[in-house]
Amino acid sequence: MTDKLIIFDTTLRDGEQSPGASMTKDEKLRIARLLERLKVDVIEAGFPASSNGDFEAVRLVANAIKDSTVCGLSRANDRDISRAAEALKGAASSRIHTFIATSPLHMEKKLRMSPDEVFEQAKLAVRFARNLVGDVEFSPEDGYRSDMDFLCRVIEAVIAEGATTINVPDTVGYAIPELYGTFIKTLRERVPNSDKAIWSVHCHNDLGMAVANSLAGVKIGGARQVECTINGLGERAGNCSLEEIVMAVKTRRDYFGLDMGIDAQHLLAASRMVSQTTGFVVQPNKAVVGANAFAHASGIHQDGVLKARDTYEIMRAEDVGWSHNKIVLGKLSGRNAFKQRLVELGVTMESEADINTAFARFKELADRKSEIFDEDILALVSDEEGSNVGEQFGFVSLSQHSETGERPQARVVFTVQGKEVTGESDGNGPVDASLKAIESHVRSGAEMVLYSVNAISGSTESQGEVTVRLQNAGRVVNGVGADPDIVVASAKAYLSALNKLQSQADKVVAQG
Ligand SMILES: [Zn+2]
Repeated sequence: MTDKLIIFDTTLRDGEQSPGASMTKDEKLRIARLLERLKVDVIEAGFPASSNGDFEAVRLVANAIKDSTVCGLSRANDRDISRAAEALKGAASSRIHTFIATSPLHMEKKLRMSPDEVFEQAKLAVRFARNLVGDVEFSPEDGYRSDMDFLCRVIEAVIAEGATTINVPDTVGYAIPELYGTFIKTLRERVPNSDKAIWSVHCHNDLGMAVANSLAGVKIGGARQVECTINGLGERAGNCSLEEIVMAVKTRRDYFGLDMGIDAQHLLAASRMVSQTTGFVVQPNKAVVGANAFAHASGIHQDGVLKARDTYEIMRAEDVGWSHNKIVLGKLSGRNAFKQRLVELGVTMESEADINTAFARFKELADRKSEIFDEDILALVSDEEGSNVGEQFGFVSLSQHSETGERPQARVVFTVQGKEVTGESDGNGPVDASLKAIESHVRSGAEMVLYSVNAISGSTESQGEVTVRLQNAGRVVNGVGADPDIVVASAKAYLSALNKLQSQADKVVAQG
């Protein structure tokens, strides 16, 4: 048993499955690059067989990432596995993660397969995958609610076929720390060849215990890989949160005695990028990365921290990236300062031309707004990628008129497959009128399930960041837009959501 804890990030796969959190391939690549800087051991980049878009995203990430293993998910069949292997071909280090459900409920109701059939399929899938790559992870889906004897039989067989990591998911978030830890421990004791594989935990947060369960799986069960996501992003109540696991194991090294490769200084940047990309806002009291995580408001605490910081602080804010965010750029900041800031924020730009375009937009923004915060820069960069050529819809300009006692009117110019069109409409407010102006042309039929405005850096001078969540034909997507003018930000967010609805049209959804 090694004393290193492997951090397996699944923000781009399990996290993305959260309704509305779908990301474009460029967004995935940007997050993957930051995960690499964070020194995550394994990046699960997607589920290549689920859609052409996901295949492309995994391929893009596999080709770009050098320091982390890139992993692709697949169901336990040859077609899915071949597709994953194909997408991962360009990776410096690759892993195939294959899964099949093993709980009585899932086998009977979902797969309609007998336990013997599941057993055979698991074996064949791992054998097939091992012929394609050397690093194969197997997950018995809904593992925690599976029959112990059957699970031992399946795991023993897949290890014999060459599975190098065995991941035991609590797919539905039903586990309790002590019980889950003991469950992993029992499996490791009972499976004869258990020492031939690394054991992994994958917990969901339905009862708020994903982090606690994962830590118990490590401490009691002896697992040496944790699967987690930035900000705990994921379906329902989410996955185990990466920043919490990492800081728990680091802060209580006295108890866990484990090493990790993670560079925690980038945790905050990763949190912000994921939140900004998906539109899933981080609550202020969120551990490690929430706005209040290191704020000592009460007088007694403040006094204590001023006298000696460890009276109330168990972690240092700067160790997870907080202090870096104080620096502000402005109108007079040069291209180098801007470029340096991008690097610190974990944003990698492909070419000098891309940096020049982003810098031009930065200057434009600096003319309208005296202080530019990190959040502004991230918003600017994601906006930049959102306006990629080849997207169905793009924002051009907007004008609107509103006056007390009069019904607001808006006129929006935007592109549809590169061709400019103009939509006009009235509405209950300027935002409503603008979005209706877009709809008057597009006629998407999508239903809006969420609209929110957030001041990026806290004052009225700041940019407004708008999130629009649209639902259509069973798909849910989020669009995010930023601008000092919240009506413009709203139109951008709406167009970005429409683009995502288009690109998600063929996606199959899977668990794991
Ligand atoms: Zn999961």
